Amino acid sequence: MLQHKAYKFRIYPNGEQRVLIAKTIGCARFVYNHFLHLWNETYLKTGKGLSYHSCSAMLPKMKKDAATFWLKEVDSIALQSSLKNLSNSFTRFFTKQNSKPQFKSKNNPVQSYTTQFTNNNIVVSDKHIKLPKLGLVKFAKSRDIKGRIINATIRRNASGKYFVSILCEEEMNALPTADSSVGIDLGITDFAILSNGQKIDNNKFTTEMEKKLRREQRKLSRRALKAKEQGINLLNAKNYQKQKRKVARLHEKVANQRNDFLNKLSTEIIKNHDMICIEDLHTKGMLRNRKLAKAISDVSWSSFVSKLQYKADWYGRTIVKVSRWFPSTQICSNCDYNDGKKALDIRWWTCSSCNITHDRDINASKNMLIEGLRLQALI
Ligand SMILES: [Zn+2]
Repeated sequence: MLQHKAYKFRIYPNGEQRVLIAKTIGCARFVYNHFLHLWNETYLKTGKGLSYHSCSAMLPKMKKDAATFWLKEVDSIALQSSLKNLSNSFTRFFTKQNSKPQFKSKNNPVQSYTTQFTNNNIVVSDKHIKLPKLGLVKFAKSRDIKGRIINATIRRNASGKYFVSILCEEEMNALPTADSSVGIDLGITDFAILSNGQKIDNNKFTTEMEKKLRREQRKLSRRALKAKEQGINLLNAKNYQKQKRKVARLHEKVANQRNDFLNKLSTEIIKNHDMICIEDLHTKGMLRNRKLAKAISDVSWSSFVSKLQYKADWYGRTIVKVSRWFPSTQICSNCDYNDGKKALDIRWWTCSSCNITHDRDINASKNMLIEGLRLQALI
């Protein structure tokens, strides 16, 4: 089966290339915002939006226009991709899959543009990667890429590092059956609890780093406040800017560690089980959660579930989503009796019907498996 796979590498553009990357990101953002505005205006006037093709047809004229002639300096495919991205956002908005497209800001911590593969414009060799308009860019090749290149996204992080993500299409073969199914309960103390009794600790190192990050973030807010009190513009506040870079670097480190942890864990679970039963996370509710510790685990959970999902697609495994209303913590996995609500601090309980004592989380993950198998049998 053909599957998509993304490869991420750090790149080291030279001065000239960095300038061009900044210009391309700026132009892609300009195109996105320009047509978003036009789209909204048109919608207000006529009740209808625009289309990718109608907008794309306006680009050549904009490149000749005295006000926007600088658009022709950069990779034209990147501008079209930006437009495509906008039109996809509108499609998802109208099919109620996401909220209304928002204007892109140059203050967003991650700045990027995407360019499509055509006529060998993207080539990966050992020390360099060839990218449209940029030419050969030095990069750290940490792994070989496989399959047909579809596109490349060039990214600049808040800490000033550059990365490229290359999306490839690859023939993936299903893994041999593992003769095993598993239920997973997601938690805060333990990151995941498996129905076979395995408990996966929250990556301690990451948790410590996250604490440090919170400390440094508070320091950043204090410095912002101080600069404000002294009437200094934040752009000129040296101490604030220094701290801002520190926080950005820390953010990146935490994100990388967490990502590594989630990648390893999801791969291991996919390799060892044919069917994985897991709670259907409610993303909209999670976004409203204001508690940071909880918010961080929410992000990790949804990233974990999406990793499980695409790896299951690659390797021919099945993910069964169990409704989040399913009372996995109340039901006895031994006799099916619903023993009622359990407060969060109750780690162990004894079923009043069959008298078996349960570890709260392991019991919940067993119930996920039982419910997942039941749902799967209905299909
Ligand atoms: Zn029981």
